[in-house]
Amino acid sequence: MKIGCPKEIKPQEFRVGMTPNAAYEAVQAGHSVIIETNAGTGAGFEDTDYIAAGAEIIATAAEIFAAADMIVKVKEPQAVERKMLREGQVLFTYLHLAPDPEQTKDLIASGATCIAYETVTDRNGGLPLLAPMSEVAGKLAPQVGAWTLQKANGGRGVLMGGVPGVTPAKVVVIGGGVVGTHAARVAAGMGADVTVLDRSLVRMRYLDDAFAGVFKTSFASAGNTIELARQADLIIGAVLIPGAAAPQLITRAQLSELKPGTALVDVAIDQGGCFETSKATTHQDPIYEVDGIMHYCVANMPGAVARTSTIALGNATMPFMMALANKGWKQACADDAHLLAGLNVHAGQITYAAVGEALGMDY
Ligand code: NAD
Repeated sequence: MKIGCPKEIKPQEFRVGMTPNAAYEAVQAGHSVIIETNAGTGAGFEDTDYIAAGAEIIATAAEIFAAADMIVKVKEPQAVERKMLREGQVLFTYLHLAPDPEQTKDLIASGATCIAYETVTDRNGGLPLLAPMSEVAGKLAPQVGAWTLQKANGGRGVLMGGVPGVTPAKVVVIGGGVVGTHAARVAAGMGADVTVLDRSLVRMRYLDDAFAGVFKTSFASAGNTIELARQADLIIGAVLIPGAAAPQLITRAQLSELKPGTALVDVAIDQGGCFETSKATTHQDPIYEVDGIMHYCVANMPGAVARTSTIALGNATMPFMMALANKGWKQACADDAHLLAGLNVHAGQITYAAVGEALGMDY
């Protein structure tokens, strides 16, 4: 099979769909790999790295889309890319179709077979191609929170780990899933005093078993949440209710109860945010202040560490990409119900119920 990887064209997207390691693996299995020139530069991979892996460098995205049997990307195809997709071609990337009727219509019109990273499942009921980005965002959250806490950025001027004779920062993480656990581990590693709030007792039992002595857990009742928030220097929002907007757990009125200069890092901003005063920001202009409280609400946090994110995503997508290449999409999906769960659009038809329902379109 010919596998093609164009350069990402969505603004501020520095990741790339295939690492040189992924290209090497595909080439070793007898496939040919074509990569758009400079596709990996933003993630620190040069054309020469891909050539060394056995891939061929191609000048334009148009040539990649014209020649490849399967396109491997990161972000949903932009309008100009969607025009280049064709019947019989496989597209393997993040799609997020439910809120995006225009993209969905174009993918239907293309006739291509579109497999979305975000709906591929695993045997534990998890989302293995979303988890790496949650891990990245979680580990990044205390890092950006520590920066937001610095005086020059409007924060309280509190150092995460304290120093001998000075107590460390108090960090509250709301939501103890993938993001929250990684955030809590890093914050604790920086020396902060960390408490994780969740509503799932099962999850808190696990966290307590695995991380007793590293961070504390507390039930996320409204009363506990505001009580801990009042004492906090940094609050990290990491909740998820699958398929729903994030619940608003700290209201605007409650901001006046927090210490001035408290930092709120709302990782759940891509689901609408879990603080009433959250609004999406960008890496160029990541923080803003409301009522003396500093907010960091970047919706694509993993983009800040494009190299780590690209490698983490590539590790997770590689086995699925190889199955699609080795067996063809039909057999690969027949053999693996978890990969089949990724099939969102095929041959002019929506094939994923939640997308059809969300958009009121046939499926
Ligand atoms: P997850 O499902 O692994 O964890 C979510 C946790 O929230 C669960 O443990 C759940 O029990 C808990 N929860 C649900 N409602 C709660 C409530 N009211 N109070 C306290 N806890 C509650 O999800 P995840 O992968 O950790 O993702 C968390 C959020 O981060 C999601 O909104 C996800 O979209 C977002 N995210 C954002 C970025 C970014 O760049 N901003 C990147 C990755 C993930």
